Amino acid sequence: ARLANQIAAGEVVERPASVIKELIENSLDAGATNIHIEVVKGGIKKIRISDNGSGIVKDELTLALSRHATSKIKDLNDLEAINSLGFRGEALASISSVARLTLTSKPKEQVNAWQANAEGRDMAVTVKPAAHPDGTSIEVLDLFFNTPARRKFLRTEKTEFHHIDEVVRRIALARFDVGFTLTHNGKTVRQYRIASTKAQQAKRVAMVCGQKFIENAIEVECQHDDMTFSGWLAKPSFSRSQNDLCYSYVNGRMMRDKLINHAIRQAYSDLLPHDAYPAFVLFLTLNHKDVDVNVHPAKHEVRFHQSRYVHDFIYSVCHQGLQNELS
Ligand code: ADP
Ligand code: MG
Repeated sequence: ARLANQIAAGEVVERPASVIKELIENSLDAGATNIHIEVVKGGIKKIRISDNGSGIVKDELTLALSRHATSKIKDLNDLEAINSLGFRGEALASISSVARLTLTSKPKEQVNAWQANAEGRDMAVTVKPAAHPDGTSIEVLDLFFNTPARRKFLRTEKTEFHHIDEVVRRIALARFDVGFTLTHNGKTVRQYRIASTKAQQAKRVAMVCGQKFIENAIEVECQHDDMTFSGWLAKPSFSRSQNDLCYSYVNGRMMRDKLINHAIRQAYSDLLPHDAYPAFVLFLTLNHKDVDVNVHPAKHEVRFHQSRYVHDFIYSVCHQGLQNELS
């Protein structure tokens, strides 16, 4: 069982940042409104994610650690209308095959907390009582301790932490309604409080993308049928000195989608042929049945059922916003 899970882990668990992405997505799927991310030595030594979500009942702890066990899909028809972030049931099993994973949880309706971990070649799960507030914590120690070949590919603590920070930033932009804290080696390095008003959201965007970005951004918002497109688009005057600020989301999922990026880039380059370096934080929401999220295992790409239509909608909103700014 361990070997099969390790092979599957090759797909989802590349580095500490990918572990963190999977664990945060689980917390979000569990309805958490506060998520703590604790990292030691770039996540190589230790990762601990604590949430105040729905928790896992004692009898389901073992199942949560086994492969292809997901509580999120009941039948194949559900695949058509997935609105949870995870649905493959592989993350916990994969991670626990390549690290020392401990799962501790207490659903509100359960009096005591319980803790589970899977060990050895057969990944036998042991469950014991524990102390924990309502919610779930997952601790991952010594990533790749048993797969030295994979461990060799890890970079320095600093680089691994940089990847983690980027994952947390991307997710923080997707979920203004959730608070996140990130600590590294015992020090709080990021604190994103729940942002309910537009002003608080702009503040979070400023924390993630920099004050200069938000000061030089055009706010866009447009609805058409059951599609909405909104967010912040850098004015042509914004000079991007540092790294790329290209954040786009489809139904709350972070994307590196070619179609979306193409539509935005084209709006910039049509108006600004010589200075077309877009920077943006943009959110597309549309009916779940109009988009296929099951395209790519890392889930960064989607397939729109009416792709031309989506492309043109995004293009026209960006084009309009930029044009207003230029005139
Ligand atoms: P998936 O997310 O694809 O369902 P995972 O391996 O990531 O698969 O998680 C397995 C199961 O464990 C989930 O379906 C869920 O029921 C449970 N689970 C994992 N993390 C949490 C969490 N933080 N809070 C509540 N339940 C969780
Ligand atoms: Mg998951």
